[in-house]
This record gives sequence, structure tokens and C-alpha cells, in this order.
Amino acid sequence: MSERFFIPSPPLHGRVVLTGDEARHLVRVLRGQVGDDVVVFAGEGVEWPAQITRLGRDEAELETGPARHDLPAGGPAVSIAVALPKGERQKWLVEKLTELGAAQLIPLETERGVAEATPAARERLRRGVIEACKQCGRNRLMAIGEPLSVAAALADMPPGSRVVIADPGGPPLDPRGLAAGATNLLALVGPEGGFTVAEIAAAEQAGAIRVSLGPHILRIETAAIALAARLAGDG
Ligand code: SAH
Repeated sequence: MSERFFIPSPPLHGRVVLTGDEARHLVRVLRGQVGDDVVVFAGEGVEWPAQITRLGRDEAELETGPARHDLPAGGPAVSIAVALPKGERQKWLVEKLTELGAAQLIPLETERGVAEATPAARERLRRGVIEACKQCGRNRLMAIGEPLSVAAALADMPPGSRVVIADPGGPPLDPRGLAAGATNLLALVGPEGGFTVAEIAAAEQAGAIRVSLGPHILRIETAAIALAARLAGDG
């Protein structure tokens, strides 16, 4: 696979200029040369083959070829609403959810949550999505949603959605039964301290199904990734 670069908007008239981090990566780290082939994507499910036509200190001009559109996604769009873990574990979470094809990560505000989804934190998550997309070949960015409470996340889902809430005390997850006929799946994952009884009751009241992921207590990011892997693969 050619080196991939993120561009903030699609090429115009077969031409695009890389700037900022992307240009630095191409010019300084990879030491790209005029004539080298690369691939660019703008995060909308399309990529373009491209060739370097001019190099500056902090920018690179590329000539782009015909757009290559991704095939339409097969199964339901999977959203993971998760009480963010701290520090490096957030980075890992975003990388893995992007690789696994989750459509959206929603920072979940819970009663026992510890990490706040500040604008700076969400910007870091977005940068992590781009990095993961460059590395794994994904052309459509995973969306980073607004921080939402359990009730708001449930209220926000379009008709035709199914919702699960990860709860060690619930019945085992049945991904096939869940995905059949659904256009959108939302999975809720709680903080290290767990969801409160009231949060689980509110979710169930709004139609969420409690699901267990096995006999062990998983870290937040393990539970989120296990759900993305099982739900995204069964459409
Ligand atoms: N102390 C908490 C565990 C929190 S683990 C408790 O006993 O409930 C963090 C989150 O990961 C949980 O809120 C839950 O959403 C999810 N999780 C962890 N292990 C799980 C399992 N075995 N099954 C389902 N969800 C799990």
C-alpha cells in the first residue's frame, strides 16, 4: 500500500497541496521526491492516487488521479458510546475502534466517569482517528461525537436503531439477533466504577438491552473493542 495522506477537503482540478503535519511527514520524515506515488483521502469514503509534482520546505504539491470510491458498508453503522478511560488508553481505544470500522465514538458522560471529554481531548481523539485511518487504509473517518449522557445518547439514535448496554450482570450478547434488520447499533460502555443502577434502569427503559461479554471484568477499552469487533462483523 502506498503512503497515505489526509487532506482536509477533496482535490480541486486534479491538484492538492499538503501542508502542516501531513507535509512535514512526507517531506521531512519520508523524504518524498518529485515523481513519488502516494494516496490521499479526505475522510469521506473516497481516495485518490497522487504523484508529487513539487516540494517546498513545509508543503508538497500533488497531482491526483481518478477518485476511487469505497464499496458501500454492508452492515449497520456501529456507534460506541463510552465513558473515556484516561491518557494513553484513550489513544489506544480510538485506534482500535477506527481499525474495526466503528462509525462513531461518543464520549459518554456517566455518574462515575473520571476523564472529561474537553474540546482539547476530543481534538486529540480526532487526530488519533486520522492517524489510524492513514495506517489501516480506512477512507471514511470515524466520527467523534459530542459528549452525551446515557439518556441523551439513547434519545439521539435514529429510528431503526438497536441499543445494548454492556453490563457484567446481563445475559450473553447475541450479535446476529441484534443486528438483523437494524440500520444502526449503539453500544454503551461504562466507567471503571461501572454504571449506576439508575443509569442501567434508564437505558433499559429507553429500549436498551443489557449484555454481558463474559465472566471477567474487562477494562473500559477492552469492553468497547470487544463490542465493536462483534457488532461490526455481523451485518
Ligand atoms: N466495577 C464495575 C466494572 C466496570 S468495567 C462493575 O462491576 O460493574 C467498565 C465497563 O466495562 C462496565 O461499566 C461495562 O460497561 C463494561 N464491562 C466490563 N466487563 C464487562 C463484562 N464482562 N460484560 C459486559 N460489560 C462489561
